[in-house]
Amino acid sequence: MSKLRFDVVQEAFKKKAVEVNVPSAKPSEYFGELVFGKEKMRRYLDAATYKALLECMAGDRPLDAVTADGVAKGMKTWALEHGVTHITHWFQPLTEGTAEKHDSFLEYDGRGGMIEEFTGRALVQQEPDASSFPSGGIRATFEARGYTAWDPTSPVFIQDDTLCIPTVFISYTGEALDYKTPLKRSLRAVSDAALPICQLFDPAVRHVISYLGWEQEYFLVDEDLYAARPDLMLTGRTLMGHVSSKNQQLDDHYFGAIPARVAAFMRDVEVCGYKLGIPLKTRHNEVAPGQFEMAPIYGEANLSNDQNQLVMNVMQTTARRHGFVLLLHEKPFDGINGSGKHCNWSLGTDTGVPLLAPGRDAQGNLQFITFFVNVLKAVQTHNAVLKASVASATNAHRLGANEAPPAIVSAFLGRTMTDVLHKLITLPSDTPIDIAGKRGASVGLVEIPEIIVDNTDRNRTSPFAFTGNRFEFRAVGSSANCAGALTTLSAAVAEQLQAFHADVQQAIGEGRPLSVAIMDTLKPIISDILDTVCFEGNGYTPEWAAEAARRGLDTETNVPEMFRAFTTPSSVRLFTRLGIYTERELTSRNEVKWETYVKKVQIEARVIGRMAINHIIPVALTYQTRLLQNVRLMQEVGEEMEGNPALSLTREISTLVRELRSRVNAMVEARKAANRIDDLYQRACAYHAIAESLAAIRRPIDRLEQIVDNDLWPLPKYRELLFIN
Ligand code: ADP
Ligand code: MG
Repeated sequence: MSKLRFDVVQEAFKKKAVEVNVPSAKPSEYFGELVFGKEKMRRYLDAATYKALLECMAGDRPLDAVTADGVAKGMKTWALEHGVTHITHWFQPLTEGTAEKHDSFLEYDGRGGMIEEFTGRALVQQEPDASSFPSGGIRATFEARGYTAWDPTSPVFIQDDTLCIPTVFISYTGEALDYKTPLKRSLRAVSDAALPICQLFDPAVRHVISYLGWEQEYFLVDEDLYAARPDLMLTGRTLMGHVSSKNQQLDDHYFGAIPARVAAFMRDVEVCGYKLGIPLKTRHNEVAPGQFEMAPIYGEANLSNDQNQLVMNVMQTTARRHGFVLLLHEKPFDGINGSGKHCNWSLGTDTGVPLLAPGRDAQGNLQFITFFVNVLKAVQTHNAVLKASVASATNAHRLGANEAPPAIVSAFLGRTMTDVLHKLITLPSDTPIDIAGKRGASVGLVEIPEIIVDNTDRNRTSPFAFTGNRFEFRAVGSSANCAGALTTLSAAVAEQLQAFHADVQQAIGEGRPLSVAIMDTLKPIISDILDTVCFEGNGYTPEWAAEAARRGLDTETNVPEMFRAFTTPSSVRLFTRLGIYTERELTSRNEVKWETYVKKVQIEARVIGRMAINHIIPVALTYQTRLLQNVRLMQEVGEEMEGNPALSLTREISTLVRELRSRVNAMVEARKAANRIDDLYQRACAYHAIAESLAAIRRPIDRLEQIVDNDLWPLPKYRELLFIN
């Protein structure tokens, strides 16, 4: 085995970048080639179908059977031109990742032959045998049928030989079994709640659009090295491994030259992404060795989230073409940065006005401040459930683990906006909010600099940061579906906007001018958020945890416990009133979360236990035997035993092996006890303790890695996994 490791490392090191088939055309020319977008709809659909479909997409009418048949006919023609043979409903179950079941177009033609057929019915609805998708008891297996239904706002696309239809996934009793359904409900809720406020400023506004721009972080490891690590293969992270002598301390990787093999991988993903209409924009090395990031141009939230799900798939398959395995786990390696997925989020009107960026005049700025402050208040009110929305067994290694955002949801505004807010509460409510530098002689006392986007200083420790024209929700995990976080954020914002609008209406009813009514309503909210959710300092310090608790922010670090924030009275009120989740959906989703948590920790616990017994201890004992032979030989030649290094190493190995065995045994017992607990929440809490104990099990292993002969060590080491490419 030891030789094998050495060979694998050598081979991995010698691998060359894989040639990428880059089209000769410019990306702008083949962008969206595999997407059935508006331009293709116009080309492949008859006029009446095209018009009807556009109305469905705008949400003005449901999709009727005749239109569906017309759409399917056009899609089939287009798909067959691309060599497509199968269709699938493509959906986002609660497992994370996407699901698909392929059906071929093939049908009997009734005359002894075969034809390709694709009907409106097959486009609109499918009934996957989905009994083994998690539903938290909503759909007992005997009534296994949920169904998937096309979401016409998300365009159909082709992957390989398959026409993929983005769908929602719902039970026959109408409950959502996926991420997309509640996301769409919540986006509508925000639009509906924001609209009357926007109309105070401009009656022409018809709806409000949510925007998402995700930044996907990931690791790449050589696939042969990956295959030699059972922990990576089965859990997506290394459960053991001593940090290498060179870590990320030199900061030479971040924004450094992209290694050739990785650059080829990125190019390949981009080509695939462009064809699929994903506007990939940014690629770079991240902080940790072996870690990288990819980000698109932001877009409408539901579509952008679909594209993130799709790109995660594309990255996975492309990585294999390049001899890599993609790691989306939030913490694949101890001691270096983990991966997140910053969700850059903003709102804008259908008239093209961004709502979270300074405006062109005092009115525009007032509208900006209105949305800015209400978003912060929403985050404050629902900080616990927002944290719960990003919590998972895997993200637990980031949140609160002294890197990336802490397990407290606070907001970072930057100096400029903090100053603006402080001024606003002290000045008369009719003070105009000016743009500094635009006018020669500004008379306003509150000013927002023109270049605020570049002006916002960065505070990397904040989970929710304002960055000039958007908020960055940074606590989302790299493997997560952004919809979980966005649905909760949107719900919280919608609720707050409704309450705010009601208060402003009342102030207007009392005869106050619009801007005064708005500022009078905003002022107490501003004071409140400045004292509570806004925090500009270092989020990693223990002082902040104490201060946050004093401010009433949620400081829970136990993940199974965090999930309970979804079913508190205030959360149930939030989600049910807005029609985003029913109470049953909330409780069943929590069941799914606890169950997933248990399973993930359970797998990790089994893997580390078996590796300790089958991989590590045998190697440690082999090396110890060698040392003992050395000791015996030394004795034979009459060497002094006192201070003999072989002897002290032997003793240290005995101590470590004993420690390792007893910790594994204790963990196995704890697991048995946990498995006997019926209540899922209680069982998840027991598994939380087991998760914590895994760190103690790896300690003697990592120490053994340091002392055992390098030749004997069976697992690729961190330095080999991380610096190879
Ligand atoms: P940084 O790492 O500096 O935060 P990146 O360029 O890596 O920035 O990613 C920023 C992301 O934010 C991109 O996806 C970008 O399109 C997106 N973004 C920019 N402006 C907005 C906005 N107004 N609303 C939503 N997302 C935005
Ligand atoms: Mg960023």
